[in-house]
Amino acid sequence: MTNTLHPNLLKPLDLGFTTLKNRVIMGSMHTGLEDRFYNYPKLAEYFRERARGGVGLMVTGGISPNRQGWLLPFGGTLNSIFDVPNHRKVTTAVHEEGGKIVMQILHAGRYGYQPFVVSASAKKSPISPFKPRALTERGIRATIRDYARCAVLARRAGYDGVEIMGSEGYLLSQFLCTRTNQRTDRWGGPIENRMRLPVDIVKQVRAAVGTDFIIMFRHSVLDLVEGGNSWDEVVQVAQALEQAGVNIFNTGIGWHEARVPTIVTSVPRAAFASVAARLRQAVKVPVVASNRINMPDEAEALIASGAVDLVSMARPFLADPEWVNKVAAGRADEINTCIACNQACLDHTFANQRASCLVNPRAGFETELVYRPATRQKRVAVVGAGPAGMAAAAVAAERGHAVILFDSSESIGGQFKLALQVPGKEEFAQTLRYFGVRLKAAGVKLALGQRVTREQLSAQEFDEVIIATGIVPRIPAIPGVDHAKVVSYVDVLQRKVTPGKRVAIIGAGGIGFDVGEFLLHDPALPLPVPLEQWCHEWGVDLDAMTHGGLAPAEQHEPPQPYRQLFLLQRKAGKPGASLGKTSGWVHRATLQRNGVEMLAGVEYLRIDDAGLHIRVGGAERVLEVDHIVLCAGQEPLAELMPAANAAPPAATPRFHCIGGAALAAELDAKRAIREAAVLAAGL
Ligand code: FAD
Ligand code: NAP
Ligand code: SF4
Repeated sequence: MTNTLHPNLLKPLDLGFTTLKNRVIMGSMHTGLEDRFYNYPKLAEYFRERARGGVGLMVTGGISPNRQGWLLPFGGTLNSIFDVPNHRKVTTAVHEEGGKIVMQILHAGRYGYQPFVVSASAKKSPISPFKPRALTERGIRATIRDYARCAVLARRAGYDGVEIMGSEGYLLSQFLCTRTNQRTDRWGGPIENRMRLPVDIVKQVRAAVGTDFIIMFRHSVLDLVEGGNSWDEVVQVAQALEQAGVNIFNTGIGWHEARVPTIVTSVPRAAFASVAARLRQAVKVPVVASNRINMPDEAEALIASGAVDLVSMARPFLADPEWVNKVAAGRADEINTCIACNQACLDHTFANQRASCLVNPRAGFETELVYRPATRQKRVAVVGAGPAGMAAAAVAAERGHAVILFDSSESIGGQFKLALQVPGKEEFAQTLRYFGVRLKAAGVKLALGQRVTREQLSAQEFDEVIIATGIVPRIPAIPGVDHAKVVSYVDVLQRKVTPGKRVAIIGAGGIGFDVGEFLLHDPALPLPVPLEQWCHEWGVDLDAMTHGGLAPAEQHEPPQPYRQLFLLQRKAGKPGASLGKTSGWVHRATLQRNGVEMLAGVEYLRIDDAGLHIRVGGAERVLEVDHIVLCAGQEPLAELMPAANAAPPAATPRFHCIGGAALAAELDAKRAIREAAVLAAGL
């Protein structure tokens, strides 16, 4: 089947000296593999799979032009001829598959997590402990030369061009904005001076690499910080950069230190595309929209309407290297959609771990997690169709095994069906759609609406039995926990009970926060949250009438919260500390904005008609609430596993236990899916 729904997305783009085969760019992502020379063979295979998947142009993770620009100590650098052979492994792999790739030159400036950091002025960033040194005139000149040398080396390594990172608050943003540029020399002051560094870099790079080499510039169209640039300045910089030799403008939204979310799952799809579209009106070269574009319909609409020329997606290519091929073949329903959770990609990067993907554990592990055809077909039973069971069944069946997947529920998905009830987590439904299609294509037999018993499992002749039965919610031993006011998060999210207007939530983990957001949502209002409402809540001015695109505070007064909530935990310390590094702050800010009282170091005394009695900070207090929702963690449900002390197991079936059934503590879907994939790859 060929695609008739997304013709504009699949159209080539002629740049004069080279042609991109379609309008889809894989945006830059730091995988961690680019930082060590011995990981370049793995990096090459990572890019090879994505080139084979049909994407028009890829951008590498950020590579520094010099030591001062390192994001991390000894981060990926291209400043010597000796680095070229490593990069050539990447470009060769990509070109063998008919793809194109540009290398991102990223100088971290004051975002560097290392002691050599430099910036426009000596102003520490809120996200790195290292105070930068202000670059001297000589230092600036040397930096420009380093960019040019880096681009020349990139060309020698076989790249089709470079992307110069000029957004997200890195060095070039630091020169461009008064927030960080307080210089009084010719590199500071008015915008003509502040833009001198990026413009000179582009001029020098262009002079060094010639005209038949892509220079893409990632331009910050909305800084989303105080002291960011005005729209007029954004345009003025773009026009000067175009004159200097830029071929394509990619767009960047928000500095890393911005207090407005720009890519987490609760950000509406394609939220910032209108700002990229405005830039397109101001320049002659192609413009790329980025951020929260993950499925082809939105992408097609942006290109078809002429709003932008290209779309950039980064994380969606971790989730599915075959994204473009699937679109081209009219199989968009087979796309493994990025749910914008950040759990295995950005959260890993910030923890200095290799980036991967929650919904695709092969991402970044292309040479290590390989699904080879099985040497002998086995009969495999998978009990539980949550993330772990779905992933195990799909991989086992694709390898050639005969798989039956049981669930007591009438539909697949396990706890993900609860997760997608949470406002802002609507994307989780995509994972269920994806697995539904994949399980069918793999020939997995579904046996839904059946609670499996041990007898059933032993009555049928299975070679392998995978127990993926998940968890049961924990019921804490609090006097009065059986009171009518007490309800489980499961019943709340399944809408079996509607809590009153004053609610206490016991447990401030991921589920406690999610239940908080669920209870704060007025069911009369639409979901997903419309873009206009989202901008109002976060104070974003998409018309960029203000510096940095931040709406004045008086224009985004928070509405009255829909419920009064208390969110409680026993341990001391910040509630929500266990939430993801790059998304936890968004959940905390949402609850804070809605006046949720978060209490740590709580002792639960009892529950009665008056409410929840607690002791906190040595003082007793009664929370006079209508309902108390238990979100106090979970226990494994593994009753189908043979007892550890039972008679020696028969040769078949072999039992395996994965996901929540194996270990409920610190369980998340990332672990559940990865464990399942690794097990099924070896059956
Ligand atoms: P489950 O998803 O619990 O699936 C187990 C399945 O087994 C169920 O479908 C059940 O019906 C079935 N079953 C049980 N016993 C039997 C039996 N005897 N016979 C047949 N079937 C049986 N994780 C994240 O990583 N990120 C998030 O943002 C996130 N948000 C969440 C939000 C909420 C509100 C909730 C509730 C969970 C969230 N999670 C999140 C957690 C994530 O959903 C779980 O970690 C994951 O679902 C665990 O997968 P699993 O397959 O081990 O178990
Ligand atoms: P959790 O994160 O482990 O939180 C459990 C909460 O219950 C903690 O606040 C804990 O705090 C409290 N608790 C534990 N035992 C208790 C007891 N006996 N009495 C009273 N309180 C108790 O687990 P969860 O919230 O159930 O989430 C399950 C998993 O889903 C998590 O591992 C999480 O990673 C995942 N998830 C992730 C997200 C996400 O956005 N990434 C969202 C939802 C869920 P105290 O012990 O201090 O009281
Ligand atoms: Fe997308 Fe989550 Fe995968 Fe990252 S881990 S690529 S955000 S689905």
